[in-house]
Amino acid sequence: AAAIVWLRNDLRLADNPALLAAVKSADSVTALYIHETGPVRAPGAAARWWLHHSLADLGNALAERGIPLVTASGDAPQCLADAIASTGASAVFWNRRYAPQERAVDAGIKDWLKRDGVQVVSFAANVLIEPWDIATGQGKPYSVFTPFWRALKQRDIPTPLPRPEGDRIAPTAIAADYQQPAWASKLAPYWRIGESGAREALADFLDERLEDYKLGRDFPAATVTSRLSPHLRFGEISPRQVWHAAMALAQREPGLAEAVDKFLSELSWRDFNYHQLYHRDDISTVPMQAKYAGIKWRHAPDDLKAWQTGQTGFPIVDAGMRELWETGTMHNRVRMLVASLLAKNLLIDWRLGEHWFWDCLLDADVASNPGNWQWVAGSGLDASPYFRIFNPVVQGERFDASGDYVRQWVPEIADLPDKWVHQPFAAPAEVLRQANVVLGETYPVPIVDLKTSRERALAAAKAL
Ligand code: FAD
Repeated sequence: AAAIVWLRNDLRLADNPALLAAVKSADSVTALYIHETGPVRAPGAAARWWLHHSLADLGNALAERGIPLVTASGDAPQCLADAIASTGASAVFWNRRYAPQERAVDAGIKDWLKRDGVQVVSFAANVLIEPWDIATGQGKPYSVFTPFWRALKQRDIPTPLPRPEGDRIAPTAIAADYQQPAWASKLAPYWRIGESGAREALADFLDERLEDYKLGRDFPAATVTSRLSPHLRFGEISPRQVWHAAMALAQREPGLAEAVDKFLSELSWRDFNYHQLYHRDDISTVPMQAKYAGIKWRHAPDDLKAWQTGQTGFPIVDAGMRELWETGTMHNRVRMLVASLLAKNLLIDWRLGEHWFWDCLLDADVASNPGNWQWVAGSGLDASPYFRIFNPVVQGERFDASGDYVRQWVPEIADLPDKWVHQPFAAPAEVLRQANVVLGETYPVPIVDLKTSRERALAAAKAL
C-alpha cells in the first residue's frame, strides 16, 4: 500500500509520529510539503528563505531512508488530491497544527478523505502538551502563565520517537518555490539550517551555555540563549526532544537543575502561546482583552518607518531593529523594548509591528509572535500591565551597561563613552563632537519624547 505523510511544521525525521506511522503502515511512502495559498498564514520573507533550505536538507535526509519529498504550491486540498492521485495513496498522515485557519483547512480535508475512503490519521508532535489536554481546576483554558507552567511540569511529556528506517533512494531536487529575497544570503552565516543543525544547536547550548542562562539570558550582548527558535518554528527539532535532553542533563548534573528549570519554563511560553492560539479568537488580529479593541492608535507612517529601519534615535531600539534586519532574529529583551516603544510610546497599532516581525523574523510563529506582541501591548491575558512602559535608556543602561550591543549594531555612535551611548541626545556638545556624532545628521534625534509619550500611552489605556 502507498501512503502520504503531509509535512507542515515538522521538518524532521526524529520524533515525527506521522512519518513513523506512515512508514510502519505502508511499503511506499511519499512525503509532501505544500506551499499553501488560502486562509493559512503564509510565511514571511525571512522564514521563506529558511524554509527553502530546510526542505532541501530534509529532502536529502528522507531520500537516505527511501522516502521522496515532493513539494507543491497552491490550495492544500487540491495539492493533496493531486498527490493522492499520482501516488495511489490509500492513507494520509500528518501532525496536528493549532491556528484557527489551519484547523479549518485540516478538518475540511479530513472530512473529504474519509468520505472518499482514504484513511487519515493525525498526531500530536509539535507542542509539549496539546491545548485541549490541559485545563484549570475549573476545566477552563489557562489565561495566566505560572499556573499553566506548574501544571505542565506535573505532566509526563512523551519521550521522543526514533527516526524511521529505509533504503536509500536518489534525492529529488527541491524547486525554489518561493522567490528568494536578494538580501537573504546575508543571513546565512548566522545559522545552520536543518535537523542536524538543530540538534547541534541544542547540544552546544546544553554543554556550553545553559549554566549561564538564568543570569545571562537578559543581556543582549551575551550569547547565552539557545537560538533554537527558528529550528522549533519549522519543527527541525521538537519541543519534546528539547525537554527530555534538558531533563536528562539535570539528572546527570543536579547543579544545573535550576538552570534547566528556567530554560524549560521559557520553552513552555511557546506552549502557552499555542494554548491561547487554540482557545481564543484569532490572536494575530483580535486583542485577547476585548477592551483593548477601543485603543485609538496613531496613524504615523513616518514614525513606523523610522522604527522599522532602526532610526528612532534610541540606540538600543535601533540596535535591535538593525539586528533583526541583518540576522533574522533579535534578542528577547530587545524585542520587548522595541515593541514597547512602538505600541506604547509611539502609540502605533501593535499589529503593524507584528507584521514587520512576521516578515523579518526567521522564527516568526503563528502563536508566539502575536502572543508576545499582545503581551507587550498589554492586551494579552497575562500581559505586561498597561502602566509598564519600558524606558529604553534605563533598560539599555541596565542590560547593556558597557554598550557592546549598541556599538555592534549602531556603529555611528560607537565612539561615545558608556555614559552617553544609550542617550546621545542628552550628551554634552563637546562629548558628541569628540565622538563625531552630529545629531540629526549622523544619528537621529529621538522621534518621540519619552516622558510625554509615556503619559499619552497611560492616558490611552486608562480611557478604556
Ligand atoms: P531561548 O531563551 O533559548 O528559549 C528557548 C526557546 O523557548 C525558544 O527557542 C522559544 O521556542 C521558546 N521561548 C522563549 N521565550 C519565549 C517567549 N517569550 N514566547 C514564546 N516562546 C519562547 N518567539 C518565537 O519563537 N517566535 C516569534 O515569532 C516570536 N516573536 C516575539 C515577538 C515579541 C514582540 C517578543 C517580545 C518575543 C517574541 N518571541 C518569539 C519570543 C522570544 O523572543 C524568542 O523565542 C527568543 O528570543 C528566541 O531565542 P532563543 O531560541 O535563543 O531563546
